[in-house]
Amino acid sequence: MEVEQLVDFSDLSAVIAFIISLSLVVFLRYVFVSGLFVGLFYVLFKDKFLSRKISKMLRPDGQSWQEIKWSALTSFIFALSGVGIVWMWQSGYSTIYIDPHKYSILYLPLSLFIALFIHETYYYWLHRWMHRPKIYRLVHKVHHDSIVTSPWTAFSFDPLESILQAFVVPFIILFLPMHFSMVMLMLIIMTVSATINHLDIEIYPKGFEQHWLGKWLIGATHHSQHHAKFLVNYGLYFTFWDKWMQTESPDFEELFREKTK
Ligand SMILES: [Zn+2]
Ligand SMILES: [Zn+2]
Repeated sequence: MEVEQLVDFSDLSAVIAFIISLSLVVFLRYVFVSGLFVGLFYVLFKDKFLSRKISKMLRPDGQSWQEIKWSALTSFIFALSGVGIVWMWQSGYSTIYIDPHKYSILYLPLSLFIALFIHETYYYWLHRWMHRPKIYRLVHKVHHDSIVTSPWTAFSFDPLESILQAFVVPFIILFLPMHFSMVMLMLIIMTVSATINHLDIEIYPKGFEQHWLGKWLIGATHHSQHHAKFLVNYGLYFTFWDKWMQTESPDFEELFREKTK
């Protein structure tokens, strides 16, 4: 696989400049996506019953500033993972490819789905492990400091948790061939879904919890129950592990109907 030399890894100052720029890009991506949802909510609901909740999102309080601070640190750690990916790519240690016709075109979405499935599986079991009492205090407590979440909670993790999460994409591209665009799309899906899951305000339509596809997707209501009740709804993108392992909250559907009335 051919790749341009994006970064000269023998030049320390170039590597440092790349880490700083990538950290900024990741952090601004978080601010942009979270800010976009806050702005949309403001425009759509400003005169309605949600307005108090939304004005709280618009003028970040103590909790939100804490979340933004942790998210900035997470951005730095995710940027290091990004530098690792570029290094692997340039050094020929990754399976990322550029020619979309190298495999069938159908393989593009298939590879993305497989990568999301691997990520889901990794995160679900990592998440269950992080809820063991001793591990929880050390690794996962920061994320649960937000009992009621907002778009600003999306990347509010303890650095140890961010490191554990940052391994997943470099791991996947060690063995799963992925087109460059699918890797980028996966990073976008990660950001957008992390934000949607923490909105607290449901954006999926009425009946989605029973829809043949919707019932497998995690959204704001599903994940808000994880923050409120801790030991249910561990999933990241999809509900299947929670359904298979019976860790889905029994009153999820009822709450979803309540929130989409
Ligand atoms: Zn969360
Ligand atoms: Zn948790």
